Amino acid sequence: MVGVERLPGPATIVTRMGFDVVVVGGGSAGCVLASRLSEDANCSVVLVEAGPDHPDLRTLPGDVMDASEPTVGHDWGYFADADLDRGIPLPRARLMGGCSSTNACFALRGAPEDYDAWAALGNPGWGFADVLDDFRRLESDQDFDDEWHGSGGPIPIRRHPPEELNRAQAAFLDGAVASGHCYVEDHNRPGAFGAGPTPRNVLDGMRMSTAVTYLAQARSRPNLTIRPDTAVAHVECSGTRATGVRLLDGSLIEADRVVLAAGTYASPMILARSGIGPASELEALGIAPVVDLPGVGSNLADHPLVAIDLPTRPSPGPSRFQAHMTFHALRRKPQGPPTCCCLRRAHSRSDPSNVRASPCSGSWPDSWRRVHAAGCGWLPTSRTTRPGSTPPTSPIPMTSSGCSTR
Ligand SMILES: Cc1cc2nc3c(=O)[nH]c(=O)nc-3n(C[C@H](O)[C@H](O)[C@H](O)COP(=O)(O)OP(=O)(O)OC[C@H]3O[C@@H](n4cnc5c(N)ncnc54)[C@H](O)[C@@H]3O)c2cc1C
Repeated sequence: MVGVERLPGPATIVTRMGFDVVVVGGGSAGCVLASRLSEDANCSVVLVEAGPDHPDLRTLPGDVMDASEPTVGHDWGYFADADLDRGIPLPRARLMGGCSSTNACFALRGAPEDYDAWAALGNPGWGFADVLDDFRRLESDQDFDDEWHGSGGPIPIRRHPPEELNRAQAAFLDGAVASGHCYVEDHNRPGAFGAGPTPRNVLDGMRMSTAVTYLAQARSRPNLTIRPDTAVAHVECSGTRATGVRLLDGSLIEADRVVLAAGTYASPMILARSGIGPASELEALGIAPVVDLPGVGSNLADHPLVAIDLPTRPSPGPSRFQAHMTFHALRRKPQGPPTCCCLRRAHSRSDPSNVRASPCSGSWPDSWRRVHAAGCGWLPTSRTTRPGSTPPTSPIPMTSSGCSTR
């Protein structure tokens, strides 16, 4: 949009090219933001994504289309420096839709009490009753239409019925129930702990990313500009006010509002490169602080995942990730129904009771002859994201050493 600005002094009119909002990162959040913000025809929005865009489904790469397993074929290649003798891969997608274009498509909600705890910490709007409205608005649940589920949203969600489970998946669920876990027909209903089919944002085997849902419905809007293959270097500021973003090629996109949606790892690094972050750490990296904001890059809480693949004999049936079981750590869920919960402690060097294990299981294609079981620590103790060895003059953490967690 062309903005007109009157400067003080003589009647000088300066014309500038600018947008109302620039959204940085066309990932899970960025595509939704661009779509929702551009619903207002008077709001000009530009969505800037470092990776490629595939607006035509016929050119969507096969592994992005296929929801049967996550893909790392479109990845930034980050590694965590985690005080081990090796780096830990941190897969993060680099294409339109972000990780929603590559992930496992579990459409699982968090525990209501966790949202309520966030709200109680002073974050209005994050209580479960608040986010429930958003969950309902984003989905069109193919299986349930009630107070907990939405039916008119852009993202279809369904669970595999028993007849779609292969033998290993069915045996996994039967075994869980035989071991005393509840059978859960819907993991997204509050209080559902146990084993049952995984809710997934998959339709006819296709991954329903935010690119093919939210963004697809907004693409034709004249007030939405989409800039794929365009990497943002840093936020431009006038004093402490953000005025736009500087691209890697040196050009500038001006906007009244800058929304950083470049993901857990890239957003803090873009801020740091913009001089927004802990002043002493920025100075140590040779970056002049613009705003001393100690929280930037802190309080990272990603979930480490360990997967075990167990060999099986071939059994007939389709894909993976169709069955799921939740456990809860004793300290976090003392009120959990004892017959439904397997109270367990997962590994953590510092505080074993501070980790909630939520193993999931799905069986892989029969040709692979194995069952895949994964356990996640939901409350890890790592807490920091910083630009790693990437020199501050290199604006984007393109290399595997570009980011570290400690
Ligand atoms: C392998 C894997 C499997 C997962 N499975 C699930 C699952 O089954 N269910 C679930 O709920 N969650 C899953 N997740 C997590 C979930 O996908 C992420 O939490 C979510 O996608 C994060 O959304 P985001 O918008 O914050 O970031 P992203 O989706 O990562 O989007 C960030 C976008 O910003 C772009 N970007 C970064 N830097 C720049 C820059 N400088 N300039 C321009 N653009 C930039 C990136 O290319 C990317 O497209 C999975 C994640 C991974 C990696």
